[in-house]
Amino acid sequence: MLPLNREQITAAFLKSNDQSEALQVPELASVQWSFLDYFGWVHPSGHLGFVVLSSPNDGQLRGIRMSRAKRSAKKPRMEMCSWCHHVHKANGTAMFTVQVKGSEGRHSLGNVVCKALDCSLRIRNLVQPESFMRETLYQPAKIWRMQATMHKWLGRANQL
Ligand SMILES: [Zn+2]
Repeated sequence: MLPLNREQITAAFLKSNDQSEALQVPELASVQWSFLDYFGWVHPSGHLGFVVLSSPNDGQLRGIRMSRAKRSAKKPRMEMCSWCHHVHKANGTAMFTVQVKGSEGRHSLGNVVCKALDCSLRIRNLVQPESFMRETLYQPAKIWRMQATMHKWLGRANQL
């Protein structure tokens, strides 16, 4: 994706009518934008996740706020990210939930996603360890699949 500055990121959330109080945009100087398909970060509290991506409908930036819950598994077990399909051995994912816009908080949609929202780096094999289950699918197809999944999810939540 193209590099974003702090103003653009904040504006993407304001446009979505999102209260920006909890929005703590991380340090952007070290972000390698060319490796990213979406920009995601986790609030220091660990209870919120944020994603900025361009809408497939109009190409404009959208800021999506999600609640984030750790998944507690009694036994270590493999977990797969529903966006990038990275398979974690244990404790690698979190439940991210987005409100359905217009439902006044009555409806929400959850997804099990890499807990640090670093799917783009995982698709490009820039994070260790590698996926526990290797896929033969080539990289552009993985990116396409991830974007399609995110668009479908956010579309159902009226967030795109
Ligand atoms: Zn992922």
